[in-house]
Amino acid sequence: MKKIALFPGSFDPFTKGHEDIVLRGLKIFDEIIIAIGYNSGKSQRYFDIDFMVKKISETFEKHSNISVITYAELTAELAKKKNANYLLRGLRNTTDFEYENSISQVNRGLNANLESVFLITSPEFASISSSIIREVHRYKGDVSAYIPYEL
Ligand code: ADP
Repeated sequence: MKKIALFPGSFDPFTKGHEDIVLRGLKIFDEIIIAIGYNSGKSQRYFDIDFMVKKISETFEKHSNISVITYAELTAELAKKKNANYLLRGLRNTTDFEYENSISQVNRGLNANLESVFLITSPEFASISSSIIREVHRYKGDVSAYIPYEL
């Protein structure tokens, strides 16, 4: 059976840290679906969602087994629809761990077939976060070193 993983997130914006998780995930999974969610707490985006779909698609255009979608439903439900038995997530620090720990329990409660798989960030990307990039960009700073595409 094909191993399909969903990589869910806000990706506001998608960063080199996210790219690294996806490319390393390809060593484990046959197919990765990057799913940009609108979640209740972060409903106001900074970067337009369709723009982000375009940029991420371009980033992985050479990989036929990576796709990009948007969603506004439970991640666990989306995984069922996409026949994805794995959720791919990245971990940078203990703050990420605390959050990921609880969310993965909830997701498995909602969908018993869903296993979350965590990859530890590569050290060179450990300090990259979407929120810092948004702050730098808001004040016209150069963020090109942190994202794998041109804005
Ligand atoms: P969410 O809003 O769901 O936290 P994000 O877009 O912020 O979505 O992040 C998606 C996933 O990528 C999360 O698992 C997050 O921990 C992980 N991630 C974010 N930045 C990095 C990074 N620099 N290195 C590794 N993983 C990361």
